[in-house]
Amino acid sequence: MKILMNDELIDREQAKVDIEDRGYQFGDGVYEVIRVYNGEVFTIDEHLERLKRSAGELKISLPYELETLKNRIRELVSVNQVRDGGIYMQVTRGVSARNHLFPGSDVSAQLAAYPIPSKRPAELQKSGVEVMTAEDIRWKRCDIKSLNLLGNVMAKQAAADAGKYETIFVRDGVVTEGSSTNFYAVKDGTVYTHPANHFILNGITRLKIMEACQNAGVDTVEKEIMASELGQYDEVFISSTTIEVMPVVKIDDRSYSEGRPGPITLLIQKAFRELLTD
Ligand SMILES: *Cc1c(COP(=O)(O)O)cnc(C)c1O
Repeated sequence: MKILMNDELIDREQAKVDIEDRGYQFGDGVYEVIRVYNGEVFTIDEHLERLKRSAGELKISLPYELETLKNRIRELVSVNQVRDGGIYMQVTRGVSARNHLFPGSDVSAQLAAYPIPSKRPAELQKSGVEVMTAEDIRWKRCDIKSLNLLGNVMAKQAAADAGKYETIFVRDGVVTEGSSTNFYAVKDGTVYTHPANHFILNGITRLKIMEACQNAGVDTVEKEIMASELGQYDEVFISSTTIEVMPVVKIDDRSYSEGRPGPITLLIQKAFRELLTD
């Protein structure tokens, strides 16, 4: 396997991380997960723009221009012959003697990107999944796709330990998002999801779902969903680059649409898949 390290494609075995990389020591960096469908990198511009934004919010400058990066990512996909899969990429603030303070401008950001297996969970997309809720203990800049994922990691593990697929975070009574997914609830044919502010990561899949909804004639409303009102909704689903549109059939002890994916969810799933084949 070839890995993109800064501006070079190198063998997996040659790729080494410095012990004083700030990503390693502080989680001081940002990342993206991108899907490859049929050899094409899906929504690459959106992902690279978001990477740049996340980095910018942390005052990390990307080591090179987005256009160059885009070409390098496409090269990475082609040299590794990725047909259907994913690309993981991350940028850290760079390597310098451990100190909370940012290093000087002589230290440049470190970029790494490589293919990861990523397969559409087709069976679960049909059956739907069960999730649990938990307090959102993360910081207040969830809009940054930061390498600091402890709150997310803890929540995902808690879900697995409880035999659930995902944890849905609740902050001050408001449902925000999942540990690695965005959250949607459907009532009377309208899709509701948390506004794209500092309390959620604005998923690229989320943006594409809005587009798919429009194509399918389904209204979408960005508003806070109270955890105490979850029972009023007809259907629920979650999304991410990897799982696309994933029906949720149970939250904690409450089942939705008789334990099966609801009709609006299925409609959106279909409309989303149509965007992939355009
Ligand atoms: C990455 C991520 C998502 C989903 O974003 P996509 O761009 O759709 O993959 C949602 N929530 C969190 C916390 C994430 O890290």
